[in-house]
Amino acid sequence: MTLSLPTTPPREAAPEFDQEKTGLGNYFIANYPPFSFWTKEALPEALAVLQCPPKPDVRLGLYLHIPFCRKRCKFCYFRVYTDKNAREVETYLNALLKEVELYSQAPLIAGRPLDFVYFGGGTPSYLSAAQLHELFDGVKRRLRWEQPREVTFEAEPGTVQREKLVALKELGVTRLSLGVENFSDRILEENGRAHRSPEIFRVYEWAREIGFAQINVDLIAGMVGETWENWRDCIRKTADLQPDSITIYQMELPFNTVYSKEMLQAGQGTHEGIASWPIKRAWVAHAYETLIPLGYDVSSGYTLVRRSSQAKFIYRDELWHGADLIGTGVASFGHLQGVHVQNVDQWDVYLQRLDEGQWPLNRAFRMDAEDALIREMILQLKTGSLDLDYFQQKYQTAVADRFREAWSHLEAERCLERAPDRYRLTREGLMQVDRLLPRFFAEKYQTTRYT
Ligand code: SF4
Repeated sequence: MTLSLPTTPPREAAPEFDQEKTGLGNYFIANYPPFSFWTKEALPEALAVLQCPPKPDVRLGLYLHIPFCRKRCKFCYFRVYTDKNAREVETYLNALLKEVELYSQAPLIAGRPLDFVYFGGGTPSYLSAAQLHELFDGVKRRLRWEQPREVTFEAEPGTVQREKLVALKELGVTRLSLGVENFSDRILEENGRAHRSPEIFRVYEWAREIGFAQINVDLIAGMVGETWENWRDCIRKTADLQPDSITIYQMELPFNTVYSKEMLQAGQGTHEGIASWPIKRAWVAHAYETLIPLGYDVSSGYTLVRRSSQAKFIYRDELWHGADLIGTGVASFGHLQGVHVQNVDQWDVYLQRLDEGQWPLNRAFRMDAEDALIREMILQLKTGSLDLDYFQQKYQTAVADRFREAWSHLEAERCLERAPDRYRLTREGLMQVDRLLPRFFAEKYQTTRYT
């Protein structure tokens, strides 16, 4: 394996750039309270809420996890399988529809229209056009699918043929998210990605011709082997494509990735091929500086949106405002009227439960009012802007007072700007938002591991 450090760190910040290495452990805050507090003991709460009528005005989304990939990327921490044959894929899809069926019969869900749908993975585009038809039709037969406002579908460029994209458009996909990650074949190969750059350009052109309402390009700042020169090239190529939105994640190293295991075996606390956090932030800043003058707006710590396209990300925005989410598939996460749930993460157990007509749930957590308030506040802070009145109206809480000390610290660190009705993260704050959020966690959740 060839590892290389970034070649041209920015001169103005060079001295401190070695300090914040990318070490082992979670950085990204996906939910609250931390997953390590979700338990099997709380499962009766989830089963009880499924029997309740829905609260009015809470929107409903559906997530379907397609856990198959051609290869395992070395930085991947998702539940994915690279060794399943056609029959096993078929068995899984049948189980997924059985799970959708269970939800469709639960009083909490029955009859509610789907507001947004998300096919994630894994690699949803791993499925054939025929399998996609079966899956979409099966979901549409079971749940109220009446033109959801957004249907997102994640695609790995190397698994897409033109006819598959045509099928996806016909089936109702509105937001095609392309897992580009990088344009350098050397870096894609080093990091274990299955696709190569020519496939990116080919798929992008088809997707534009076919006319998806929104095309998103996913990038990762800080893949092993990344350099300033290459990152500039990636941003230039992304800008040339003019996608409706661009998502940029900063590379992290949770414990269960290939890279993390290699580091543990070698007794190393950091990976020499992955840039430090300040360099990754400098790369994101470069992306902002390049893309904003070209007509993009920053819509969260990870997303830029092309102004003229008026692209949205309804899945993200609804979840961050407390919507319900049916999470289907092995290891999937859901949210049901204040109760977090996660499915079992073992293939056999997932299939067996559904074969027996049982819920495949593994753990749950019922939030109290304070948990719900903090959850929404930290998730919405990821957009870089907090509407104070929203929390007053929804939770009867003045969050400016309630978290006075934390805001003052953020301001002192030049991460926050305050207006009477709205708090905004500065650019510097937004680029490291996940690092700032644990300070808002309730004390009982502060000292334990996140996952
Ligand atoms: S394609 Fe995505 S889900 Fe599959 S192994 Fe790579 S990062 Fe993980």
